Amino acid sequence: GSTIGIFGGGQLGRMLAMSALQLGYRCIGYAPAGDNVAAEACADFFENHWADREALAAFAAKCDVVTWEFENVLVSAVAAIPAERLASAPRALEVAQDRLNEKRFVEDLGGRAAPHMRVESDEDFAQAIERIGTPGILKTVRDGYDGKGQWRVRDWQEAQGVRFPGRRCIYEGLVDFEAEFSVILVRGSGGQIRFWDSTANTHEGGMLVQSVLPAGDLIVEQVGAARELAGKVADALSYVGVMTLEFFATKDGPVFNEMAPRVHNSGHWTIEGAATSQFENHVRAICGLPLGETATRFATIDMRNIVGEQALTAHAILSEEGEPHLHLYGKREVREGRKMGHVTRVGARLK
Ligand code: ATP
Ligand code: MG
Ligand code: MG
Repeated sequence: GSTIGIFGGGQLGRMLAMSALQLGYRCIGYAPAGDNVAAEACADFFENHWADREALAAFAAKCDVVTWEFENVLVSAVAAIPAERLASAPRALEVAQDRLNEKRFVEDLGGRAAPHMRVESDEDFAQAIERIGTPGILKTVRDGYDGKGQWRVRDWQEAQGVRFPGRRCIYEGLVDFEAEFSVILVRGSGGQIRFWDSTANTHEGGMLVQSVLPAGDLIVEQVGAARELAGKVADALSYVGVMTLEFFATKDGPVFNEMAPRVHNSGHWTIEGAATSQFENHVRAICGLPLGETATRFATIDMRNIVGEQALTAHAILSEEGEPHLHLYGKREVREGRKMGHVTRVGARLK
């Protein structure tokens, strides 16, 4: 097939479609009306609700293979696509959309997560504070991203001021980590898996701001165990494409944070920094093409997000030394804390 359907209309879909175009495919997007910056890279774009059965059927009829760039797509929308046209079963979404499910799933495969409890009332919250203690984070079980839907609780006194927000939540003990990293893998249709190098990731206010290589000794030591777990997760879901697991590197080894069954912000550096980018390998995997090498091509990598108003002066980056690679997503509305683009700087070329 030569037409790829993509659920979701954000920058991940835009960069996915740009890679698909390069390999001779055309893309058709599907997302509710909004600032769908993927549309510009797609031959056609359906702006419809996730539950619009007619639109979903028309979308499916035009696509040879369907994937997603957004893990909060309504599962019933994905399930409306004939199974033989789905790159991966919706099971990966069901697991990853629910913080309790994803933790249980990964723990069952031998992974370690932060201590956590389900919170569905003020009483549950009080009990979670008592059992797990502070500091901790109350998170909505579903629909959070970029740190949205999270409330930090520094101490017992602060916990008194936090009310159950009315949506199903999870309370997690704050992990005392040294660093954060992610394992990004691609799994081909035949089950073969390749990993990119793990960057050290820095977050501010719950949002990724920077990914760098080299990642430092502690992360390098823990990547092996984290990869083994990530591979098991991808296998258990019979997942095809790029998948990401986020980890905390602690003194006692890697602690699983969350997973994203899709291309990931911490993998944007692979566009210039690796032999094959995460976007290209996702396209290769879902189209049944041979996977590309994932080796890092430079001694140092520095990927930074361009957030909110930083976008207004981003073109000035182009006059900086060191050949910065600038990516702007074409978002029409600049909002505080919104990811508008990114810039990747690379060091000396390896071999
Ligand atoms: P994403 O945009 O990556 O999907 P998200 O909104 O799902 O983000 P999380 O990944 O759960 O949020 O948390 C965002 C960041 O907050 C983490 O990368 C980490 O820096 C911090 N954080 C979250 N949970 C914990 C925890 N239990 N202990 C310590 N830090 C945490
Ligand atoms: Mg998340
Ligand atoms: Mg995260």
